[in-house]
Amino acid sequence: HSKERGRNMISFYDPKLQASILERNEINQGLINAIAKKELNVVYQPIHNTSKELIGYEALLRWDSPKLGSVSPDVFIPIAEETKQINQIGQWVLEQVCEEMSKNDAYSNPNLSVAVNVSALQFQDPNFVPQVLETINRFSIQPSRLKLELTEGVILMGTEMLIKRMKDLKNLGINLSLDDFGTGYSSLSYLTRFPIDTLKIDKSFIDKMLISSEDESVVKAILTLATSLGKNVIAEGVESEEQFQYLKRLGCQFFQGYLLGKPQSFNHRE
Ligand code: C2E
Ligand code: MG
Ligand code: MG
Ligand code: MG
Repeated sequence: HSKERGRNMISFYDPKLQASILERNEINQGLINAIAKKELNVVYQPIHNTSKELIGYEALLRWDSPKLGSVSPDVFIPIAEETKQINQIGQWVLEQVCEEMSKNDAYSNPNLSVAVNVSALQFQDPNFVPQVLETINRFSIQPSRLKLELTEGVILMGTEMLIKRMKDLKNLGINLSLDDFGTGYSSLSYLTRFPIDTLKIDKSFIDKMLISSEDESVVKAILTLATSLGKNVIAEGVESEEQFQYLKRLGCQFFQGYLLGKPQSFNHRE
Protein backbone atom coordinates (compact mmCIF):
# COMPACT_ATOMS: atom_id res chain seq x y z
CA HIS A 1 0.00 0.00 0.00
CA SER A 2 1.88 3.00 -1.30
CA LYS A 3 0.37 5.54 1.12
CA GLU A 4 1.57 3.59 4.13
CA ARG A 5 4.93 3.01 2.52
CA GLY A 6 5.26 6.75 2.05
CA ARG A 7 5.19 7.22 5.80
CA ASN A 8 8.33 5.25 6.35
CA MET A 9 10.58 5.72 3.34
CA ILE A 10 10.92 7.61 0.12
CA SER A 11 8.53 6.09 -2.35
CA PHE A 12 8.49 6.52 -6.12
CA TYR A 13 5.02 5.09 -6.46
CA ASP A 14 2.85 7.80 -5.05
CA PRO A 15 4.21 11.17 -6.21
CA LYS A 16 1.00 12.87 -5.07
CA LEU A 17 1.83 12.28 -1.43
CA GLN A 18 5.59 12.54 -1.68
CA ALA A 19 7.12 15.97 -1.33
CA SER A 20 10.36 16.71 -3.16
CA ILE A 21 13.51 17.27 -1.12
CA LEU A 22 13.16 21.00 -1.64
CA GLU A 23 9.56 20.96 -0.45
CA ARG A 24 10.50 18.77 2.49
CA ASN A 25 12.99 21.37 3.67
CA GLU A 26 10.40 24.11 3.33
CA ILE A 27 7.81 22.04 5.18
CA ASN A 28 10.26 21.24 7.94
CA GLN A 29 11.30 24.90 8.30
CA GLY A 30 7.71 26.09 8.17
CA LEU A 31 6.57 23.62 10.82
CA ILE A 32 9.17 24.81 13.33
CA ASN A 33 7.20 27.98 14.01
CA ALA A 34 3.76 26.87 12.87
CA ILE A 35 2.35 26.51 16.39
CA ALA A 36 3.69 29.86 17.59
CA LYS A 37 2.39 31.59 14.46
CA LYS A 38 -1.05 30.02 14.94
CA GLU A 39 -0.98 28.36 11.53
CA LEU A 40 -2.25 25.02 12.85
CA ASN A 41 -5.84 24.28 13.65
CA VAL A 42 -8.01 21.29 14.37
CA VAL A 43 -11.16 20.31 12.46
CA TYR A 44 -13.74 17.73 13.52
CA GLN A 45 -15.39 15.09 11.37
CA PRO A 46 -18.61 13.53 12.71
CA ILE A 47 -19.01 9.80 13.36
CA HIS A 48 -22.52 8.33 13.18
CA ASN A 49 -24.27 5.08 14.13
CA THR A 50 -26.59 2.92 11.99
CA SER A 51 -29.49 5.34 12.68
CA LYS A 52 -27.27 8.19 11.49
CA GLU A 53 -27.19 9.65 14.99
CA LEU A 54 -24.05 11.55 15.93
CA ILE A 55 -21.89 9.60 18.38
CA GLY A 56 -18.66 11.60 18.27
CA TYR A 57 -15.95 13.19 16.20
CA GLU A 58 -12.47 12.56 14.87
CA ALA A 59 -10.07 15.47 15.32
CA LEU A 60 -8.00 16.16 12.20
CA LEU A 61 -5.08 18.55 12.02
CA ARG A 62 -4.85 21.32 9.43
CA TRP A 63 -1.89 23.51 8.50
CA ASP A 64 -2.31 26.73 6.55
CA SER A 65 1.17 27.87 5.70
CA PRO A 66 1.47 31.46 4.42
CA LYS A 67 4.27 30.26 2.14
CA LEU A 68 3.06 26.82 1.05
CA GLY A 69 -0.68 27.17 1.31
CA SER A 70 -2.74 24.44 2.88
CA VAL A 71 -0.55 21.35 3.33
CA SER A 72 -2.16 17.92 3.80
CA PRO A 73 -1.41 16.09 7.06
CA ASP A 74 -0.62 13.06 4.91
CA VAL A 75 2.34 15.11 3.66
CA PHE A 76 3.52 17.04 6.72
CA ILE A 77 2.96 14.44 9.49
CA PRO A 78 5.57 12.00 8.07
CA ILE A 79 8.05 14.90 7.83
CA ALA A 80 7.26 15.97 11.39
CA GLU A 81 7.93 12.37 12.44
CA GLU A 82 11.34 12.34 10.78
CA THR A 83 12.38 15.55 12.47
CA LYS A 84 10.81 14.55 15.83
CA GLN A 85 8.58 17.63 15.75
CA ILE A 86 5.60 15.28 15.92
CA ASN A 87 5.79 14.99 19.71
CA GLN A 88 5.25 18.70 20.20
CA ILE A 89 2.63 18.92 17.45
CA GLY A 90 0.74 15.87 18.73
CA GLN A 91 0.68 17.27 22.25
CA TRP A 92 -0.60 20.59 20.89
CA VAL A 93 -3.47 18.77 19.12
CA LEU A 94 -4.41 16.94 22.31
CA GLU A 95 -4.44 20.18 24.31
CA GLN A 96 -6.50 21.91 21.65
CA VAL A 97 -9.07 19.10 21.59
CA CYS A 98 -9.31 18.94 25.40
CA GLU A 99 -9.71 22.70 25.62
CA GLU A 100 -12.56 22.69 23.08
CA MET A 101 -14.19 19.69 24.77
CA SER A 102 -14.07 21.46 28.12
CA LYS A 103 -15.35 24.82 26.87
CA ASN A 104 -17.99 24.04 24.40
CA ASP A 105 -21.70 23.47 24.57
CA ALA A 106 -21.62 21.25 21.51
CA TYR A 107 -19.89 18.78 23.78
CA SER A 108 -22.25 19.07 26.71
CA ASN A 109 -23.58 15.65 25.74
CA PRO A 110 -21.30 13.37 27.75
CA ASN A 111 -21.88 10.54 25.29
CA LEU A 112 -19.99 12.29 22.51
CA SER A 113 -16.39 11.16 22.23
CA VAL A 114 -13.52 12.74 20.34
CA ALA A 115 -10.86 10.61 18.66
CA VAL A 116 -7.33 12.00 18.36
CA ASN A 117 -4.75 10.56 15.95
CA VAL A 118 -1.49 9.57 17.57
CA SER A 119 1.63 8.98 15.52
CA ALA A 120 3.56 5.77 16.23
CA LEU A 121 6.58 7.88 17.18
CA GLN A 122 4.59 9.91 19.66
CA PHE A 123 3.23 6.72 21.21
CA GLN A 124 6.79 5.41 21.66
CA ASP A 125 7.77 8.34 23.86
CA PRO A 126 8.02 7.07 27.47
CA ASN A 127 6.36 10.33 28.60
CA PHE A 128 3.31 9.78 26.41
CA VAL A 129 0.96 8.26 28.99
CA PRO A 130 1.83 10.71 31.80
CA GLN A 131 1.39 13.61 29.35
CA VAL A 132 -2.04 12.41 28.25
CA LEU A 133 -3.08 11.99 31.88
CA GLU A 134 -1.82 15.45 32.83
CA THR A 135 -3.63 17.01 29.87
CA ILE A 136 -7.04 15.40 30.45
CA ASN A 137 -6.80 16.26 34.15
CA ARG A 138 -5.89 19.88 33.42
CA PHE A 139 -9.04 20.30 31.31
CA SER A 140 -11.21 18.00 33.47
CA ILE A 141 -11.99 15.67 30.58
CA GLN A 142 -13.69 12.40 31.40
CA PRO A 143 -11.21 9.79 30.07
CA SER A 144 -13.95 7.69 28.42
CA ARG A 145 -14.76 10.63 26.12
CA LEU A 146 -11.27 10.56 24.65
CA LYS A 147 -10.27 8.00 22.04
CA LEU A 148 -6.79 7.58 20.67
CA GLU A 149 -6.31 6.33 17.11
CA LEU A 150 -3.18 4.30 16.51
CA THR A 151 -1.93 2.77 13.28
CA GLU A 152 -0.32 -0.61 12.84
CA GLY A 153 3.01 1.26 12.69
CA VAL A 154 3.09 1.17 16.52
CA ILE A 155 4.04 -2.51 16.29
CA LEU A 156 7.58 -1.47 15.41
CA MET A 157 8.14 -0.52 19.07
CA GLY A 158 7.93 -4.17 20.17
CA THR A 159 4.83 -5.95 21.35
CA GLU A 160 5.56 -6.26 25.07
CA MET A 161 6.18 -2.53 25.53
CA LEU A 162 3.29 -1.73 23.21
CA ILE A 163 0.77 -3.88 25.07
CA LYS A 164 1.89 -2.43 28.39
CA ARG A 165 1.39 1.13 27.12
CA MET A 166 -2.01 0.27 25.67
CA LYS A 167 -3.05 -1.30 28.98
CA ASP A 168 -1.88 1.76 30.91
CA LEU A 169 -4.18 3.92 28.78
CA LYS A 170 -7.07 1.45 29.05
CA ASN A 171 -6.64 1.47 32.83
CA LEU A 172 -7.04 5.24 32.77
CA GLY A 173 -10.36 4.68 30.96
CA ILE A 174 -9.20 5.90 27.55
CA ASN A 175 -10.43 4.01 24.47
CA LEU A 176 -8.14 2.87 21.67
CA SER A 177 -8.82 2.43 17.95
CA LEU A 178 -6.72 0.86 15.23
CA ASP A 179 -6.78 3.27 12.27
CA ASP A 180 -6.44 2.45 8.57
CA PHE A 181 -7.05 -1.18 9.42
CA GLY A 182 -6.14 -3.63 6.67
CA THR A 183 -3.37 -1.53 5.12
CA GLY A 184 -0.55 -2.50 7.49
CA TYR A 185 1.56 -5.57 7.79
CA SER A 186 0.76 -6.74 11.27
CA SER A 187 -0.17 -10.30 12.01
CA LEU A 188 -3.83 -10.75 12.79
CA SER A 189 -2.92 -12.72 15.90
CA TYR A 190 -1.70 -9.50 17.53
CA LEU A 191 -5.24 -8.30 17.47
CA THR A 192 -6.32 -10.77 20.12
CA ARG A 193 -3.59 -9.47 22.45
CA PHE A 194 -4.17 -5.75 21.98
CA PRO A 195 -6.66 -4.02 24.28
CA ILE A 196 -8.16 -2.20 21.28
CA ASP A 197 -11.88 -1.34 21.27
CA THR A 198 -12.40 -0.33 17.68
CA LEU A 199 -11.12 -1.13 14.20
CA LYS A 200 -11.38 1.54 11.52
CA ILE A 201 -11.68 0.06 8.02
CA ASP A 202 -9.48 2.07 5.68
CA LYS A 203 -11.18 4.26 3.11
CA SER A 204 -9.35 2.50 0.25
CA PHE A 205 -11.45 -0.65 0.87
CA ILE A 206 -14.70 1.26 1.24
CA ASP A 207 -13.97 3.12 -2.02
CA LYS A 208 -13.74 -0.07 -4.06
CA MET A 209 -16.00 -2.38 -2.04
CA LEU A 210 -18.95 -2.12 -4.43
CA ILE A 211 -16.91 -2.57 -7.60
CA SER A 212 -14.20 -5.05 -6.60
CA SER A 213 -14.98 -8.42 -5.05
CA GLU A 214 -11.51 -8.52 -3.46
CA ASP A 215 -12.14 -5.31 -1.56
CA GLU A 216 -15.61 -6.49 -0.66
CA SER A 217 -14.05 -9.65 0.77
CA VAL A 218 -11.62 -7.64 2.90
CA VAL A 219 -14.46 -5.54 4.31
CA LYS A 220 -16.51 -8.66 5.11
CA ALA A 221 -13.51 -10.38 6.70
CA ILE A 222 -12.76 -7.38 8.93
CA LEU A 223 -16.38 -7.24 10.08
CA THR A 224 -16.47 -10.98 10.82
CA LEU A 225 -13.17 -10.81 12.68
CA ALA A 226 -14.22 -7.78 14.69
CA THR A 227 -17.54 -9.36 15.66
CA SER A 228 -15.92 -12.55 16.89
CA LEU A 229 -13.32 -10.58 18.86
CA GLY A 230 -15.97 -8.29 20.34
CA LYS A 231 -14.60 -5.13 18.75
CA ASN A 232 -16.47 -2.22 17.20
CA VAL A 233 -15.94 -1.21 13.59
CA ILE A 234 -15.96 2.25 12.03
CA ALA A 235 -16.07 2.44 8.23
CA GLU A 236 -14.00 5.41 6.98
CA GLY A 237 -14.61 7.41 3.83
CA VAL A 238 -18.30 6.53 3.38
CA GLU A 239 -19.35 8.82 0.54
CA SER A 240 -22.59 7.30 -0.79
CA GLU A 241 -25.89 6.11 0.62
CA GLU A 242 -25.32 2.85 -1.23
CA GLN A 243 -22.06 2.25 0.67
CA PHE A 244 -23.75 3.16 3.94
CA GLN A 245 -26.66 0.74 3.38
CA TYR A 246 -24.39 -2.08 2.26
CA LEU A 247 -22.06 -1.69 5.26
CA LYS A 248 -25.03 -1.54 7.58
CA ARG A 249 -26.35 -4.79 6.10
CA LEU A 250 -22.93 -6.40 6.72
CA GLY A 251 -23.17 -5.45 10.40
CA CYS A 252 -20.96 -2.36 10.52
CA GLN A 253 -21.98 -0.18 13.50
CA PHE A 254 -20.27 3.15 12.90
CA PHE A 255 -19.68 5.37 9.89
CA GLN A 256 -17.53 8.33 8.97
CA GLY A 257 -17.33 10.06 5.62
CA TYR A 258 -18.51 12.88 3.41
CA LEU A 259 -21.99 11.31 3.23
CA LEU A 260 -22.43 12.09 6.92
CA GLY A 261 -20.22 15.14 7.22
CA LYS A 262 -16.94 16.72 6.24
CA PRO A 263 -14.34 17.79 8.77
CA GLN A 264 -15.30 21.26 10.02
CA SER A 265 -13.65 23.73 12.29
CA PHE A 266 -15.18 24.08 15.68
CA ASN A 267 -16.69 27.50 14.99
CA HIS A 268 -18.39 26.41 11.82
CA ARG A 269 -20.09 23.40 13.28
CA GLU A 270 -23.85 23.62 13.50
P1 C2E B 1 -7.00 9.25 9.04
O1 C2E B 1 -6.82 9.34 10.51
O2 C2E B 1 -7.28 7.91 8.46
O3 C2E B 1 -8.16 10.29 8.70
C1 C2E B 1 -9.12 10.10 7.71
C2 C2E B 1 -8.84 10.96 6.51
O4 C2E B 1 -9.82 10.69 5.51
C3 C2E B 1 -8.95 12.46 6.78
O5 C2E B 1 -8.03 13.09 5.90
C4 C2E B 1 -10.38 12.78 6.35
O6 C2E B 1 -10.57 14.13 6.01
C5 C2E B 1 -10.50 11.88 5.15
N1 C2E B 1 -11.89 11.53 4.85
C6 C2E B 1 -12.85 11.18 5.73
N2 C2E B 1 -14.01 10.89 5.09
C7 C2E B 1 -13.76 11.07 3.78
C8 C2E B 1 -14.56 10.90 2.61
O7 C2E B 1 -15.74 10.52 2.63
N3 C2E B 1 -13.95 11.17 1.41
C9 C2E B 1 -12.65 11.56 1.33
N4 C2E B 1 -12.14 11.79 0.11
N5 C2E B 1 -11.87 11.71 2.41
C10 C2E B 1 -12.42 11.47 3.62
P2 C2E B 1 -7.01 14.19 6.45
O8 C2E B 1 -7.72 15.07 7.41
O9 C2E B 1 -6.35 14.77 5.25
O10 C2E B 1 -5.96 13.36 7.27
C11 C2E B 1 -5.11 12.45 6.65
C12 C2E B 1 -4.30 11.66 7.65
O11 C2E B 1 -3.40 12.53 8.37
C13 C2E B 1 -5.15 11.02 8.75
O12 C2E B 1 -5.72 9.84 8.29
C14 C2E B 1 -4.10 10.80 9.82
O13 C2E B 1 -3.35 9.63 9.55
C15 C2E B 1 -3.19 12.01 9.65
N6 C2E B 1 -3.52 13.02 10.67
C16 C2E B 1 -4.47 13.97 10.65
N7 C2E B 1 -4.47 14.69 11.80
C17 C2E B 1 -3.51 14.17 12.60
C18 C2E B 1 -3.02 14.45 13.92
O14 C2E B 1 -3.50 15.32 14.65
N8 C2E B 1 -1.99 13.67 14.38
C19 C2E B 1 -1.45 12.65 13.64
N9 C2E B 1 -0.44 11.93 14.16
N10 C2E B 1 -1.89 12.35 12.40
C20 C2E B 1 -2.91 13.08 11.88
MG1 MG C 1 -7.66 8.63 12.12
MG1 MG D 1 -7.91 6.16 8.78
MG1 MG E 1 -5.51 7.61 6.93
